[in-house]
Amino acid sequence: VWEYAPAPESRDLANLKPSYRPFIGGEFVDGSGEPLKTINPATEEVLAEVGTASASDVDTAVKAARRAYEKTWRPMPGSERAKYLFRIARLIQERSRELAVLETLDNGKPIKESRDSDLPTVAAHFFYHAGWADKLDYAGYGPDPQPLGVAGQIIPWNFPLLMLAWKIAPALATGNTVVLKPAETTPLTALVFAEICQQADLPPGVVNIVPGAGDIGAEIVNHPGVDKIAFTGSTEVGKEIQRAVAGTRKRLTLELGGKAANIVFDDAPLDQAVEGIVNGIFYNQGHVCCAGSRLLAQESVVDELLEKLRYRVSTLRLGDPLDKNTDIGAINSAEQLAKIQELADSGEAEGATRWTSPCPLPDRGFFFAPTVFSGVEQSMRIAREEIFGPVLSVLTFRTPAEAVAKANNTPYGLSAGIWTEKGSRILWMANQLRSGVVWANTFNRFDPAAPFGGYQESGFGREGGRAGLEAYLHV
Ligand code: NAD
Repeated sequence: VWEYAPAPESRDLANLKPSYRPFIGGEFVDGSGEPLKTINPATEEVLAEVGTASASDVDTAVKAARRAYEKTWRPMPGSERAKYLFRIARLIQERSRELAVLETLDNGKPIKESRDSDLPTVAAHFFYHAGWADKLDYAGYGPDPQPLGVAGQIIPWNFPLLMLAWKIAPALATGNTVVLKPAETTPLTALVFAEICQQADLPPGVVNIVPGAGDIGAEIVNHPGVDKIAFTGSTEVGKEIQRAVAGTRKRLTLELGGKAANIVFDDAPLDQAVEGIVNGIFYNQGHVCCAGSRLLAQESVVDELLEKLRYRVSTLRLGDPLDKNTDIGAINSAEQLAKIQELADSGEAEGATRWTSPCPLPDRGFFFAPTVFSGVEQSMRIAREEIFGPVLSVLTFRTPAEAVAKANNTPYGLSAGIWTEKGSRILWMANQLRSGVVWANTFNRFDPAAPFGGYQESGFGREGGRAGLEAYLHV
């Protein structure tokens, strides 16, 4: 990540009082919601008790965001807003070890992922959007595009800080203020982020964080003072939110579930493809909306590919997420673990062949061994439903057209992968696949400059890149 001049006037960390409470109007406050306990999913021990917001706290937060929008953030020149975003980006870098450890404790993801992937991508997102803040006149929307106002943002638990960055960075760069609700099982890093906002001397009310459960999300969605809702989470809740904002003036973007196809042709370098398949479905325990959860293998190579894949998966180390050698950490909650188990059992009951990595499971915590189903038919639940866990469903195809038809045979459309040496085939396939992202000879690569988002039931609107700015502007 490139260097930028140090932030002037950062507040001294020693003068801040860290606090797992709602952050409203620039201060941590005692929320009037019921406190919630967040646990370490690798040990099932309580990590922290977190103060939550009530409906009236959401109202206070929206009013604080409105005041900040009118009085400070909107009138401020983009070049000044950029300084705050650069400052936040640098503070995230400075505190990235602490944030990575906290993310791993609260979420269960391996430390090598939070340290080497989540945190650098979070910082990159703020750097990237800081760069846009004073260049919106040149973004191709015409002179002087206007912010929307107060953005209500609701995020899931799989990438707590990264989803926050995807939401907050573009909103702030374009001159909006925000009220964000983290997921109930992973609120901690969002509250350290609030502390970073204090450290950066961000004007009070520009960022407000309101921990709580789904009902607090609904309060944000229904609040008349909110101009835009940005939601990342399940398709089911996304549809509920869509119904709730219908007939209001609110703008809406939805980033929902997925069931991506990772398509391997017989001319692909198979060892490289195996690495991409493993990364595609076992990264972050498969808690990834764009996970390559369906492997479509060309019939002529499926046996060889499966043999290589099973060998490679059996070398993955599952266990303590804080151990830097761990590849597969903990499932985020008992509820999610039960959902994965139920869907995996349905695969067996419906006649697919189940293979489980022989890795030993720790005797406490929520863990699920990497699992590969072969002989999967399109009608099976494991081929249709999002499992959101380390479970791969393997289907086969003969021709490129059949691969396209099977890949598109889903109500979702978030991402897809293609493995082949033929450039012309990549271009043809990318054009045929109905999904927001298509990777070729790689998988799960993210860049703040590349718009991300879905087709169909994976949602609408884009996050990242120039397209992502549009979601926060009147153009
Ligand atoms: P979820 O929909 O249960 O919860 C997401 C957030 O919405 C949480 O903060 C939750 O408290 C809140 N919420 C719940 N009910 C609400 C309501 N009625 N009104 C407003 N807010 C409400 O999803 P989850 O289980 O936390 O996350 C997993 C899902 O997120 C998966 O389906 C995954 O594919 C999806 N996801 C999508 C993307 C993407 O970019 N497309 C990224 C990550 C995760």
